[in-house]
Amino acid sequence: MTSKPDIKSQPQPAERPHAKYLWHGGELVEWDQATVHISMMGWTSISSVFEGIRAYWNEEQQQLFVFHLDAHLKRLYQSMKIMRMDCLYSPEQLTEAITGLLRANGFRADAYVQPLAYFTGGIPGYEAVWEDPAEVVITPRLAPSNLGSGKLAHCNISSWNRISDNVMPPRAKAISNYQNSRYVSTESRVNGYDYGIILNQQGKVAEASYACIFIIRDGVAITPPVSAGILESITRETVRQLLENELGVPVLERDVERTELYIADEVFLCGTAVEVQPVVSVDRYRVGDGETGPIVSRLESLFHQVVRGNHPARSHWLHPVYPQA
Ligand code: PMP
Repeated sequence: MTSKPDIKSQPQPAERPHAKYLWHGGELVEWDQATVHISMMGWTSISSVFEGIRAYWNEEQQQLFVFHLDAHLKRLYQSMKIMRMDCLYSPEQLTEAITGLLRANGFRADAYVQPLAYFTGGIPGYEAVWEDPAEVVITPRLAPSNLGSGKLAHCNISSWNRISDNVMPPRAKAISNYQNSRYVSTESRVNGYDYGIILNQQGKVAEASYACIFIIRDGVAITPPVSAGILESITRETVRQLLENELGVPVLERDVERTELYIADEVFLCGTAVEVQPVVSVDRYRVGDGETGPIVSRLESLFHQVVRGNHPARSHWLHPVYPQA
């Protein structure tokens, strides 16, 4: 069972290690100088949209690779569009901002970058505003990859349902949507699981609290469609292509039912934060033989080679941070 974290013994914000710079309002800003007025908190987050992007360090090449930067920025602009936000910056400017920020911080290890777009003028934030352009803040931090660590996930089916397209569109990566994920993950942790799996309004499997889901049945990989209440995950699409084109595993996008998770040969989660993680039990039903299955094992090691820049056929998915020799 996972015990309740002792919040008092955790480092407080000022003590936590952090980057030297973040990027705000078009420029690099020293960490301690990056402020907005406290009255903006809360209201600005109602409509904020964001991205979570990983960068992987390749020791041999002495290079830091941002994974699928273009796809993440494309989704950020799509989220802004749904929110009727105009951005002050072009994708080229944000690309330069992100790579320049990682360089300025001198990161030579795996990292995570979070660009967040928010309405500056929308107070109170529940009123319709779209005339004001969105401001962007980009926060980087070091974040070691879990790939190859052998982490195995125990999951439950959450008693919470997934938000839906005409309530809180899951397709937009909006901060507010994460209250849904938070209910799910808190319930899971309280009950001793690693991740909750969420059913949508139709009772079909949507995704996990911060990740998408695949099952393997009789050699076929199956994942819920983009209309199932999922975030249109960049890792899900990456995995789909790797399974089909490199590992010869057919992929089906179709509704998945709860009991299919109980009888699947393999189950795994995928997403920027979780990367590729095998699920070895669902609601305490053992998945397969309770170990990492053969397909997810091959997939995880291929995914690791790809993101770290050791698989030249997919180098177009990577954005180098430092000038290449
Ligand atoms: N669903 C949710 C709710 C998420 O937060 C994430 C992580 N961004 C994912 C799915 C996976 O998406 P991606 O592969 O683009 O990180």
